[in-house]
Amino acid sequence: MEVIRLKEKVWLASPTIHKEEQEFVQQAFDTNWVSTVGENLEKLEQEVAFYTGNPYAVALSSGTAALHLAVKLAGIGQGDRVFCSDMTFAATVNPVRYEKGNPVFIDSEYDTWNMNPATLEKAFYKYPDTKAVIVVNLYGTPAKLDEIQTICNHYGAVLIEDAAESLGATFRGKQTGSFGKYNVVSFNGNKIITTSGGGMLLTSQEEAAEKARFWSTQAREKAPWYQHKEIGYNYRLSNILAGIGRGQMLYLEEHKALKKEIYLRYKKGLENLPVQMNPYLLWSEPNFWLSCLLIKQGCLVTPEKIRRKLERYQIESRPIWKPMHLQPVYKGEEFITEGKEVSTDIFSRGLCLPSDIKMTKEVQEIVIEIIKSCFG
Ligand SMILES: *Cc1c(COP(=O)(O)O)cnc(C)c1O
Repeated sequence: MEVIRLKEKVWLASPTIHKEEQEFVQQAFDTNWVSTVGENLEKLEQEVAFYTGNPYAVALSSGTAALHLAVKLAGIGQGDRVFCSDMTFAATVNPVRYEKGNPVFIDSEYDTWNMNPATLEKAFYKYPDTKAVIVVNLYGTPAKLDEIQTICNHYGAVLIEDAAESLGATFRGKQTGSFGKYNVVSFNGNKIITTSGGGMLLTSQEEAAEKARFWSTQAREKAPWYQHKEIGYNYRLSNILAGIGRGQMLYLEEHKALKKEIYLRYKKGLENLPVQMNPYLLWSEPNFWLSCLLIKQGCLVTPEKIRRKLERYQIESRPIWKPMHLQPVYKGEEFITEGKEVSTDIFSRGLCLPSDIKMTKEVQEIVIEIIKSCFG
């Protein structure tokens, strides 16, 4: 074990670029469409809209920007409650605060690690007039999107789907990023495909898409001079970066297949240890963005022990997203749970494993051996 020396660092998830990206970027240069208008933008919007089954798409500078505009479209303002997944990246929730709303965190379930629909129901029972829900498909695993959609419809709340991590994952054969009234994907560097940095708002509402496009380009009214009736943002994606996205879209299926192979190799390789892999519903197909393990209750090995050992071999792993209700910045916001804090428990026993699609089978076998050695 101790003789292993890896030549290169193994990443959790890093960009994987092919040659077509460069060609689309070159086209932008050759035609001088290097700013926030151009064919790459139009085509990328069409392609992602078509792929996810949304009639409209607005390409933006980040997933966070897309979430911000989604929160604005949902009409969230001062003091409005928004039910949010508790176990997620802060970018899911921060836009609620940008608009001076109050996130209320909904605990996870063990089945998918995502928002527990029963707990969401309980939250609506307490606050029936809540305007919006932001559900996340964590690590590319779909939440119980049908149940969550039904509950939102029943209470007349807007569903925002944060599919930043789950582009390409499906629930009952339907693409994630199409269950909400407003849906968000991210093209950040570590996601399943990238534009180096970027994101997209997806919706079936034409008016909403137009409004988002308007806000994202500084809310300029139609006038020869600069006329403003509303506060705008500089959130539009560049046509150059959209070119990277077009090239990446050609490889989304390949990236998904490679991610799944990684997940299945971990599942097989770790089967005799007291761990389980991040679970998913039989009627859903994750994009397997990140493979994670959960150490069985009562086992004395901690995720931190594994993380540190991997780090000694230049192998990156990472704790599970720390639940929002435990974040100092969100101290004081309400957290709704069934009693036992599931998100806290998963955080304490889980670990995200290197899931980079450039990791070879041989290197992954080494990762698996190192993990095994932690269990003595
Ligand atoms: C990455 C991510 C975002 C933010 O996307 P950016 O493009 O990085 O702004 C939002 N939510 C989740 C769950 C994410 O993983």
